[in-house]
Amino acid sequence: MEIHKVGVVGAGQMGNGIAHVFALAGFHVVMNDISADSLTKAITTIDRNIERQVSRGKVTAEDKAAAMARISTTLSLSELGTTDLIIEAATEKESVKQRIFDDLLPHLLPHTILTSNTSSISITRLASRTDRPEKFMGFHFMNPVPVMQLVELIRGIATDQETYSTLHGVVQKLGKTAASAEDFPAFIVNRILMPMINEAVYTLYEGVGSVKSIDESLKLGANHPMGPLELADFIGLDTCLAIMNVLHDGLADTKYRPCPLLTKYVEAGWLGRKTQRGFYDYRGETPVPTR
Ligand code: NAD
Repeated sequence: MEIHKVGVVGAGQMGNGIAHVFALAGFHVVMNDISADSLTKAITTIDRNIERQVSRGKVTAEDKAAAMARISTTLSLSELGTTDLIIEAATEKESVKQRIFDDLLPHLLPHTILTSNTSSISITRLASRTDRPEKFMGFHFMNPVPVMQLVELIRGIATDQETYSTLHGVVQKLGKTAASAEDFPAFIVNRILMPMINEAVYTLYEGVGSVKSIDESLKLGANHPMGPLELADFIGLDTCLAIMNVLHDGLADTKYRPCPLLTKYVEAGWLGRKTQRGFYDYRGETPVPTR
């Protein structure tokens, strides 16, 4: 199946990255959000990020102009009705995602493939509540989307081969690499990554190390390009907590219990870079550890 037009629901950090790479690869993109402000910010961010690629000689100014012209925005889900592929990249909450698919279904063409960029929620369960579980898949991009090479493809129990092959082809067209993961909580990358981040928060909570010493230890001692707390801020602490809760509930193993300190940061609204405060405070010139 050929994909020409793509609907992206949720214009946050993942949604804008997804729109960016699809538009540059020649797809038409309609971006939706409940917040007009998020849509405006997304366009500004995409423009700035593609401009950076132009200044590095990776993209021509003509390609940038063409890509920007292929992106439109809307507050109304009905305008995504003519797309061939939907990528849902809204807040990591099952009720939010469920509502989006419920509201989208009456507007969609029969052939439209539905996907979710969820980091952890069951694809089979999301798919089962739609009219097309065979055309539903997990389509998990990594952050930042324009930079990261991997895309996880997650088949629900009912996903058909045509849907899988179509998305595999789309990943190739984006110049990225696909990895297949089975539909179990948090799939592959986050099943391994999130317990490590959660353990780093426990290490901080128990006073074994400070924010700075924990991050430095993993960077210099394990050759990680970013420390785990810095990475958590980058991902978003609300997203990290939501994924730990899915692992804890879905696998029913206490080893996945979210650290109370992670919960506390989320309760404070200190969600990381996107709110300018998390394990680091980003409001000044350089990030300052908050513990
Ligand atoms: P974000 O908070 O930056 O953006 C979420 C966006 O969704 C916001 O703009 C919000 O206004 C919008 N939204 C909320 N409800 C909506 C609705 N009903 N309709 C339309 N838009 C709605 O979050 P994010 O980091 O971009 O994460 C989005 C998804 O991507 C989540 O499922 C997350 O698990 C997944 N993901 C995140 C990362 C990461 O590193 N942050 C990586 C891979 C996947």
